[in-house]
Amino acid sequence: MQFYSTNKSVPNVSLKQAVLKGLADDKGLYMPERIESMPSDFFDNISNLTFSETALAVAGKFFGDDVPADKLKTIIDQTLSFECPVHEVRPNISSLELFHGPTLAFKDVGARFMARLLEYFLGNNDKEVNVLVATSGDTGSAVANGFLGVPGIHVYVLYPKGKVSEIQEKQFTTLGQNITALEVDGNFDDCQRLVKSSFMDKQLQSHMVLTSANSINVARFLPQSFYYFDAYRQLKKAGLDKNLVFSVPSGNFGNLTAGLFAKRMGLPVKRFIAANNENDVVYEYLQTGKYNPRPSVQTIANAMDVGDPSNFARILDLYDHSWKNICADISGVRYSDDEIRATIKDVYSKDKYVLDPHGATGCKALIDGLNPGETGVFLETAHPAKFMTTVEPIVGKGNLSVPVRLAKFMAGEKVSVPLSKEFKDFKEFLNSH
Ligand SMILES: *Cc1c(COP(=O)(O)O)cnc(C)c1O
Repeated sequence: MQFYSTNKSVPNVSLKQAVLKGLADDKGLYMPERIESMPSDFFDNISNLTFSETALAVAGKFFGDDVPADKLKTIIDQTLSFECPVHEVRPNISSLELFHGPTLAFKDVGARFMARLLEYFLGNNDKEVNVLVATSGDTGSAVANGFLGVPGIHVYVLYPKGKVSEIQEKQFTTLGQNITALEVDGNFDDCQRLVKSSFMDKQLQSHMVLTSANSINVARFLPQSFYYFDAYRQLKKAGLDKNLVFSVPSGNFGNLTAGLFAKRMGLPVKRFIAANNENDVVYEYLQTGKYNPRPSVQTIANAMDVGDPSNFARILDLYDHSWKNICADISGVRYSDDEIRATIKDVYSKDKYVLDPHGATGCKALIDGLNPGETGVFLETAHPAKFMTTVEPIVGKGNLSVPVRLAKFMAGEKVSVPLSKEFKDFKEFLNSH
């Protein structure tokens, strides 16, 4: 399969090149040249499949030309060693729990897949590959843990100083080995800019092999479509698959875009809701047709504090830049921190379900906007214990259990390298490594 750039001013590349480059030279994002439909018997029989079998069938459409079937199966089996169950929260509203992986957030799926795929592509290559990843909280931990100990790969995690929770920070600053954490004196957009600038820098490119593990990378982004199919599989089994509405807590919009891909592949989804916190550029676009990127503001759903979402370029490309067509599939909502807190409280007291601040935006969108006859599923993108200091005071002490693997991270010692937000400093740092 060939991949083209959303900016369409550079030649197409192979899957391997797209994964190794991350971002295209014209700053566009890579898109697969074909999005094939799944055959109708796949949907007829889907209830008989496992999560891995469902994922493997979908993965074959994107990666099947470039990765032998047995290898792809191994990669999928290693990636999906945990389930993503659907949990009914209240009538017609279910949570798709994506937080049962090692770092308790949905990004484990894409990060683990990408690590294994890159390992396969590198083989016995002797040149070290450097993975740069900007994080507003959860990406760093998922990528760092996914790539931990993978030979031939070094990961640099750039994160905004003082803007991620202690638990999030511990998940990527305590690992050591091939993982280096860079604590940037700036916000998430500064971190993302430093990463993007590195890819555009000719001198750096000749000095070292650089790639990105943000959702701009196709190997991280595309596997996120797997669990939409799997949610359908589970709902169909329960007879709840009619007029499906997916509500997706969104920041960089990789997760939602993967859902749009699933729909394009034939998954019977009626519509999507893009749930935002106060970082609302896409919400505004959906209302007005105008896209005005601006600096991000800090919220309690910090993994969604993004002011210029990378994957918006993919959405535009997928719909041929038609605002009308985009609005036919996606509507937007925007919630304040107070509304998010109130939702966590309401759902805990009525349904005894503990939401995290991100999932809460998705859940509220369904509580507010589901129509009669629709079945709503929101993506619960992280375990609420990752946001202990926000969630516990709302649901009450003792009502939020902390998974063992999270407690283990907390016991580790933080090691990070302080960095300014100036590109020249970051470049100097990379050149000295
Ligand atoms: C990254 C993240 C999001 C946003 O996902 P995007 O793909 O960037 O839109 C939402 N919730 C959590 C917990 C996250 O870590």
